[in-house]
Amino acid sequence: TDASSFVDSKIAVVPDFPKPGILFRDVTPLFSDADAFATVTTALSEPFDGGFVAVAGIEARGFALAGGIAIEQGVGVLTVRKAGKLPGEVLSESYALEYGEATLELRPNQIPAGSSVLIVDDVLATGGTVEATITLLERAGYVVAGVAVLLELDGLGGRARLEGRVPVHALSSA
Ligand code: IMP
Repeated sequence: TDASSFVDSKIAVVPDFPKPGILFRDVTPLFSDADAFATVTTALSEPFDGGFVAVAGIEARGFALAGGIAIEQGVGVLTVRKAGKLPGEVLSESYALEYGEATLELRPNQIPAGSSVLIVDDVLATGGTVEATITLLERAGYVVAGVAVLLELDGLGGRARLEGRVPVHALSSA
């Protein structure tokens, strides 16, 4: 599809970033091209259209994608944030990284319990980030309609970890 070709042609592959030995996929060229951004935004939500009342974007690149989907689909945005950014009552979920730990947070009670929510992010790697996000949304009382990402990295187990729990839609893989 057009969306997969944009993902394949526009994402830059950067060796040794942010650390030596890591092959980083930089999706920002997809965001700065108006046609590419509109095309991938539409394609991300397409399998789930009509089946969600909010889109949860994961900080930070997921925020841009969630905004695009929200406007097009007429739904609201939930921001899943790194620890310490949200004031007031928050739900927190910590998960293991290759070295160390990360924490994501969500403000509860923003939409009715039982609401269906689509999760969006740029890259699915081990699936730890999305899994923590699913747990946060379920703890808040929502139903996860699915997960949409631009790119899934093969061989890191992300899809296997999430499948059976929620549908996973990736525009391309590498
Ligand atoms: P996971 O938790 O291992 O699936 O890693 C996914 C999270 O790390 C997402 O929030 C991504 O934005 C980020 N991430 C992992 N690898 C890359 C990459 O190559 N490029 C951009 N973001 C990445």
